[in-house]
Amino acid sequence: MRVLLIGPPASGKGTQGRRIAAHFDVPYLSSGELLRSQVAAGTPLGHRVADDLAAGDLVPDEVMLEALREPLHEAMSSGGYVLDGFPRNVAQARELETFAAKIGGAPEIAVWFDVEDAELLKRTRSRALAEGRVDDVDKVARHRIDVYAAATAPLVDHYRAQGLLIRVDAAKPVDAVTGAVLAALEPFAKLA
Ligand code: AMP
Repeated sequence: MRVLLIGPPASGKGTQGRRIAAHFDVPYLSSGELLRSQVAAGTPLGHRVADDLAAGDLVPDEVMLEALREPLHEAMSSGGYVLDGFPRNVAQARELETFAAKIGGAPEIAVWFDVEDAELLKRTRSRALAEGRVDDVDKVARHRIDVYAAATAPLVDHYRAQGLLIRVDAAKPVDAVTGAVLAALEPFAKLA
């Protein structure tokens, strides 16, 4: 099963992505987590992306691809992927299509976590307090929502046009969202 998760910051992609991955027994891969771990480990790649992460800007496409290529390759050889946070713009979507075509791993479905901005800001505020993510403080969170609207939201039409899009009302309580996503994905698991 090869699933993409698309949605603004704090729309629940991480929580739901882990649940989807556990349920269908496929690897979960988060581009943001991957970058944060590089920053924490102080690797050269981590140094290159630290400022963008702190500012809530997207890291350059080629850097993101470099970080993701190997983990994505590994995931594909272990049954597919639940990919959280990549692609983040149409150029990355095209890169993924090219890369995936070479190794037979094109995405089968894109789940869009739809939530309005006011709810997102409520969530980033409580996450900033609970987890201390520096990019969840209000000003940066607002910027990340704007970056999503400008760069990432066009992916909704991109995947709708390909017939891959499923919309989920991600303002609902966590367990209700999980139920809706798993139900929508079940037919794809049976096909796999
Ligand atoms: P996330 O954990 O998905 O909210 O991502 C945290 C941060 O990592 C983002 O604000 C970006 O700075 C960076 N990031 C994650 N995924 C990507 C991507 N696909 N392209 C560029 N930057 C990304």
